[in-house]
Amino acid sequence: MATTRTFSIIKPDATRRNITGAVVKMLEEAGLRVVASKRIHMTREQAEGFYAVHRERSFFGELVDFMISGPVVVQVLEGEDAMQRNRDIMGATNPANAAPGTIRKELAESIEANTVHGSDSDENAAIEIAYFFKPEEIVG
Ligand code: ADP
Ligand code: MG
Repeated sequence: MATTRTFSIIKPDATRRNITGAVVKMLEEAGLRVVASKRIHMTREQAEGFYAVHRERSFFGELVDFMISGPVVVQVLEGEDAMQRNRDIMGATNPANAAPGTIRKELAESIEANTVHGSDSDENAAIEIAYFFKPEEIVG
């Protein structure tokens, strides 16, 4: 299995509760390495562009409002099969359905305020990484 990269966001519900360290600890214990990280407060335009694939979904407006309600931490994660590994440790979108030991089961507040974003394919990971990071910001 190859070493690959994926894109992660620690969402506003986690920065608000001061639990970004707890999230990173779970990512690291799952075998992922943070190779780039920055705390930002997204603009509405940035959040709408990032979630453009969801713009027809009923919750799009609320999702954008939530994602700009406070700072987030955008990250590049590296590891063996990083995209799938990250999705596995994140758990299901709705924390009520997430498996024990996953970030969303242990830490998330609701289906919307679910603590973390993770790319859902290697192709989208590359697109999402490039949306927030210049190559020279990914330092290993
Ligand atoms: P995931 O983050 O697990 O890949 P999706 O890509 O389907 O899930 O959805 C993107 C984000 O939109 C979710 O992480 C969550 O914050 C929000 N979301 C998804 N479904 C709902 C819903 N039914 N109601 C409110 N927010 C939702
Ligand atoms: Mg998704």
